[in-house]
Amino acid sequence: MSKRKSNQPTKHLFVSGGVVSSLGKGITAASIGRLLVNMGYSVRIQKLDPYLNVDPGTMNPFQHGEVFVTDDGSETDLDLGHYERFLDQPCTGDSTFTSGQIYQTVIQKERAGEYNGGTVQVVPHITNEIKEAIRVLATDDVDVVITEIGGTVGDIEGLPFMEAVRQFRHEVGRANVALCHVAYIPYIKAAGEIKTKPAQHSVQKLREIGLVPDFLMCRTEHPLNREIREKLALFCNVDFDDVIELRDVPHAIYEVPQIMLKQDLHTRLIERLGLAPRECDMRAWDLMLRHIRNPKDTIRVGLIGKYINHQDAYKSVTEAIDHAAWGHLLKAEIVRLESESLEGDVDWKAQIKDLDAIVVPGGFGQRGFEGKLRAIQYCREQGVPYLGLCLGMQTAAVEFARNVLKLEGATSVEMEAKPTHPIIVLMESQKDVVDLGGTMRLGTYPCTLVRKTSKTSKAYGNVELVHERHRHRFEFNLAYKPLFEEAGMMFTGLFIPDPAHPERHLVEIMELKDHPFFVATQAHPEFQSSPVKPHPLFKALIGAAYKIRSTTSNTSKG
Ligand code: GLN
Repeated sequence: MSKRKSNQPTKHLFVSGGVVSSLGKGITAASIGRLLVNMGYSVRIQKLDPYLNVDPGTMNPFQHGEVFVTDDGSETDLDLGHYERFLDQPCTGDSTFTSGQIYQTVIQKERAGEYNGGTVQVVPHITNEIKEAIRVLATDDVDVVITEIGGTVGDIEGLPFMEAVRQFRHEVGRANVALCHVAYIPYIKAAGEIKTKPAQHSVQKLREIGLVPDFLMCRTEHPLNREIREKLALFCNVDFDDVIELRDVPHAIYEVPQIMLKQDLHTRLIERLGLAPRECDMRAWDLMLRHIRNPKDTIRVGLIGKYINHQDAYKSVTEAIDHAAWGHLLKAEIVRLESESLEGDVDWKAQIKDLDAIVVPGGFGQRGFEGKLRAIQYCREQGVPYLGLCLGMQTAAVEFARNVLKLEGATSVEMEAKPTHPIIVLMESQKDVVDLGGTMRLGTYPCTLVRKTSKTSKAYGNVELVHERHRHRFEFNLAYKPLFEEAGMMFTGLFIPDPAHPERHLVEIMELKDHPFFVATQAHPEFQSSPVKPHPLFKALIGAAYKIRSTTSNTSKG
């Protein structure tokens, strides 16, 4: 993060949403952040979520999509993943607050007697706590704090957040705050018309709470003509030039900053915030986009999980696959497969035989486990490049135990309480855990790369120590390690908590000998991939897959 050079107080940009959810508020906030960073401003970014869960960690991915994990082990909304990928800087727990957390803090303070016998109320106690959450990021070295308000204006649960923003603007001064409102502009096919009314109503909702947007970000599938823009400006109370068209992008979400730049949003925004105009250096970003738009070939990557039907359940994984493909000037065609569809008496091979590589992502529970085992066995036996993430590593270990070591009944204790061969066991630190929320092994841990000549080490650039994020309760059972090693499984990455006792470690990465690429990790490397810095393991997976594809297609051509 660049040091703040301006003498100005920290500026605040709020991003709200209107009409419907799923408009890409997170991508909008992150894209603005990227523009500010490219102008040399130091930016922090956060999301306030009005739901009552303390964090999304206990929510079903079908409900909420992926749970993104930060370095400090916070389980957060997937928008933090967008923030990190766009800004190429890590977030912390201070980048995420939910109503649940805010209420929990207030109630704890009440129980501790901190309110001196006063009546505790939404206004001012909840709103004060929300303002505190915003202030936390506004340290001296920060030029702009971007705060995305989750939900849609008009939602009952969002009201305290909106009221807090109103008060905050009053307290820090209007000159230091701007509001971007993202609204949906529908196109009615039967009438052949673009409609502005829903956006107008959502701005009215904002006005009811005393807020007026400075910028209207229009999510639309069709271009907005001058007349529509004028109408939006007039009735939504923004300047004509502050109506920003955000049409669906053809190639990748990373095109959004460029679209904003073309409409001069960056200059208008810093003008609005009273910051000095600066050149916005888009060279590296534009180059990345050129690569994304002009792939030399495609690569088919299978993603085999159990929340496949939810668009966002594996967001960081699909992103990391895309980044890695772009890093090889390729385009990834991600084939999402429900692991259960590979189970039972079906022609499961037909579903995976055309894949160039397979990824089994993280997950929980028994459903779909056997389907994943089949796919992994196929990769191992047929030399198909494989990357296992967390449960994807645990499943690879079980597959190896069953089919190579012939240990009948081998499994994870997550799947069966007392198996004959417990290959994956509950971590010691988890044995007394009762609560579900925030109790897994979470966040960043170091991993020592112990086999210098392995593909793992090579992928990571032959360094000795790497850091990856985690979210799990179970681990590889070290009692089986010698058997695995004898049969050709290498343990290439270990977490060694106490250097005086290297034998007391936790398996972080496994790799199969004599295979083009079969690497499985207990960690979630996908959380650290960005389009400008694809994650080395994903990059190595795609590299290995494309190498095989190129040689086989050359041979078949020849
Ligand atoms: N369910 C497994 C565990 O808790 C794997 C978790 C994951 O894939 N994130 O260890």
